[in-house]
Amino acid sequence: MISTVLDELTEQLPAGVVVVDPEILDSYRRDRADLVAAGTPGALMRPTSTAEVATSMRWASHHGVTVVARGAGSGLSGGANAIDGCLMISLERMRRVREIAVSDQLAVVEAGVINADLGRAVAKHGLLYPPDPGSFEISTIGGNLATNAGGMRCVKYGVTRTSTLGLEVVLADGRVLHTGGRSIKNVAGLDLTQLFVGSEGTLGIITAATLRLQPAPTTPPATFVATFPTLASAGAALAAITASGASASVLEFMDHATINAVEDHQRMDLDRNAAALVLGQADATDGPTHVAVMAECCNQAGADFVAHTQDPTEADLMMAARRPGGSPASPPWPKGHRSSRMWRSRVHGSRKCCWQSKRLARRQACGSPPSAMPGTATSTRSLCCRTSSHPTANSRWQRPTRSVPPPSRWVARSPESMELVPSRGNGLRISWTKPHSRYMRTLKQRWTRSTC
Ligand SMILES: Cc1cc2nc3c(=O)[nH]c(=O)nc-3n(C[C@H](O)[C@H](O)[C@H](O)COP(=O)(O)OP(=O)(O)OC[C@H]3O[C@@H](n4cnc5c(N)ncnc54)[C@H](O)[C@@H]3O)c2cc1C
Repeated sequence: MISTVLDELTEQLPAGVVVVDPEILDSYRRDRADLVAAGTPGALMRPTSTAEVATSMRWASHHGVTVVARGAGSGLSGGANAIDGCLMISLERMRRVREIAVSDQLAVVEAGVINADLGRAVAKHGLLYPPDPGSFEISTIGGNLATNAGGMRCVKYGVTRTSTLGLEVVLADGRVLHTGGRSIKNVAGLDLTQLFVGSEGTLGIITAATLRLQPAPTTPPATFVATFPTLASAGAALAAITASGASASVLEFMDHATINAVEDHQRMDLDRNAAALVLGQADATDGPTHVAVMAECCNQAGADFVAHTQDPTEADLMMAARRPGGSPASPPWPKGHRSSRMWRSRVHGSRKCCWQSKRLARRQACGSPPSAMPGTATSTRSLCCRTSSHPTANSRWQRPTRSVPPPSRWVARSPESMELVPSRGNGLRISWTKPHSRYMRTLKQRWTRSTC
């Protein structure tokens, strides 16, 4: 039993690092794979340094205790689920960005750094950390590395592996291993970095990583969306886009079942009858040209609806079908760019009031893991030990008010008039003639911008 030898570990670590409170342990039992069985950890360890991880791995190895690594628990395969009696090592408190080297275009970060936080940190230097899994606002870099997470931008920039230069890993016996380096041309010897990426915590605990950055795009991406009456026509469009040489930074495909699952989850007025939906972006300076080519490919392939835009607000509406949480961190657009103010204010606004930040802050304050997405069965369960002190924890997830600034006004030309008008709290209130009209119906109308 882990409890008989736990005192030995507790004595070697600062107070509070080892947790045995059954209610807290319960909230760390599982990730977001609801259908995968989860055990109960014997203890939870929340280290703040690589040395503390090494101490616990030495202890676990000596006593034959099973270890499960955990980032934010946003995984969808049960990889972070507890095994009965295990030591759960949650890296959530190791969230230091150790270095951002602008001239080398790299960052050295600890495993518990949240993906979106890294994105925002490097954006200040005009740089981009490309991997952007849908869970970018909640998942950790350690978890992204351990699962080799992809994301919407992987069509252009590759998956997490592509952006990984080196790792700091604690092995099962407590030794600390450094793999890779800081340069792209790091060719001598076996590529242990690539071995650890995607190994789901089975080979060691990743405590830090050296990550490759890219110059950030200087203009907002151009975006298109298209729906198709058949899967074959959507497939033909994607093949034509690839063959056209147009450079997509995002190219996402949703089939009929997925469209309807998203629509069930949050009503956006997606076309429930469409056989497929394709979303794309191009983030190069000549992005609009690339998007125009991609949109034309969709038209030629038989799409029954195609729309494209360069406006970030419209783009967010389109992309919301794939990423309900909002856009990943992007750089503030250059001064004078027409989207500059809007974008800065949205990033700032979303940090201030978005639901993830609020709930994360609350969960961290009460010692719960920053894992599960609000409003889901998983999160409600994992919050169970704290719900009494947080009356909203069990309530349905409410989408946040969009935090775009309100100076302009959108007017639909169609008689089925729709308006986005300024509302209190620096958001936009949507005024609809039809109660559930949110997405396609809106986009199908031609919007014009007036400055009234
Ligand atoms: C809404 C939503 C959207 C998502 N979208 C995507 C997507 O677009 N692309 C995608 O690939 N995935 C996606 N995922 C899945 C998930 O978010 C990713 O797999 C993510 O990388 C997991 O990170 P995490 O910090 O939550 O790790 P966890 O879920 O805590 O752990 C995942 C695995 O990594 C191991 N692990 C965690 N940290 C470490 C570490 N420091 N060292 C060693 N092993 C470790 C765990 O043991 C486990 O096996 C999505 C999930 C959700 C909920």
